[in-house]
Amino acid sequence: MAECVKVIVRCRPMNGREKALDCKNCVSMESAKGSCTIKNPDDPKAPPKTFTFDGAYFTDSTTEAIYNDIAYPLVEGVTEGYNGTIFAYGQTGCGKSFSMQGIPDPATQRGIIPRAFDHIFETVSVADGCKFLIHASYLEIYNEDVRDLLGKDSKARMDLKEHPEKGVYVAGLSMHPVHNVVDCNHIMEKGWKNRATGATLMNADSSRSHSIFTIFMEMSNNDEEGEEHIRAGKLNLVDLAGSERQGKTGATGDRLKEATKINLSLSALGNVISALVDGKSKHIPYRDSKLTRLLQDSLGGNTKTMMVACLSPADNNYDETLSTLRYANRAKNIKNKPKINEDPKDALLRQYQEEIEKLKAMLMGQIPVPKGGFDLSSSDGL
Ligand code: ADP
Ligand code: MG
Repeated sequence: MAECVKVIVRCRPMNGREKALDCKNCVSMESAKGSCTIKNPDDPKAPPKTFTFDGAYFTDSTTEAIYNDIAYPLVEGVTEGYNGTIFAYGQTGCGKSFSMQGIPDPATQRGIIPRAFDHIFETVSVADGCKFLIHASYLEIYNEDVRDLLGKDSKARMDLKEHPEKGVYVAGLSMHPVHNVVDCNHIMEKGWKNRATGATLMNADSSRSHSIFTIFMEMSNNDEEGEEHIRAGKLNLVDLAGSERQGKTGATGDRLKEATKINLSLSALGNVISALVDGKSKHIPYRDSKLTRLLQDSLGGNTKTMMVACLSPADNNYDETLSTLRYANRAKNIKNKPKINEDPKDALLRQYQEEIEKLKAMLMGQIPVPKGGFDLSSSDGL
């Protein structure tokens, strides 16, 4: 069954700088209707523009509410074997990291990522007769280079490969087993630090790079006949680069070229979204950037996808905010066809179980132990 990408908008409160500049508020929302209205501060006679979304969260909203309303069913789907993607979009300083990572205090503002960790391991702890295998990976795309934030060398350039069944993946991306929420947080912090070091060395910052934290879940249970079934779900948590340069791609000629070079992936994402929703394009330019290749399944593919578009209320950000609203408005028309990943051929659970059976048989002398011992490190994750 096709379902659209779920899009919500979230407006942060006015920050100190905007208050000091005596900025006026140009954004208003009617949360019950999911609508967001913006007024042009330079043209008071122009009619305000109104957009409607799957949710509109104003300055006093909590991440807890956003999670419960929109993210919860998506993450629940991942624990059932669907793929899910949650991404935050918007101008730098408008609340992408606030929404994804969040702050510990007050607890209502803990981010979507730590809430997803809690949710997944809560499900694991109450599931009866079900075995789970959970791994995490963390990568960054900076200047069209993909880097493994948890790898031996977090600056090394990684290649994208395509597999007929698995789709596009990063060759050699390190996969880390996680057994609980503490493991997840540890991995997240470790990767975040590598990202920060990379940032000072390369003079990059989070406004110019995209990061994708992925949780791979495999679960197995036996049907009535005792036959084992494995399902696999994948959750991508994406913190995109700041969109302010993307706004410039409305320009033409040299400025368009410049903006495209500065963040090719973000412009490509806009082009993919446009091509998906205009209904005329047969060709969707996924191959134009690393980000769109990696998120191909999340945009018009078999994934449940949610976008949090982050806004500033201040009138001096009018152009950027309008551009974010238009982008978000297009994205909500993308149709996906989520499906459960049933008995995937490359399931690690099955590989591990087969290895264990083999080892048991060797121990019991049923099959000979190979010369040079055995190798358990052969499984190469997605
Ligand atoms: P981004 O990741 O989009 O560049 P941040 O999430 O880092 O922006 O937010 C910038 C600043 O605004 C941070 O200090 C953050 O705490 C604050 N902020 C963002 N969104 C909210 C919000 N909804 N409520 C309160 N403060 C917010
Ligand atoms: Mg950020």
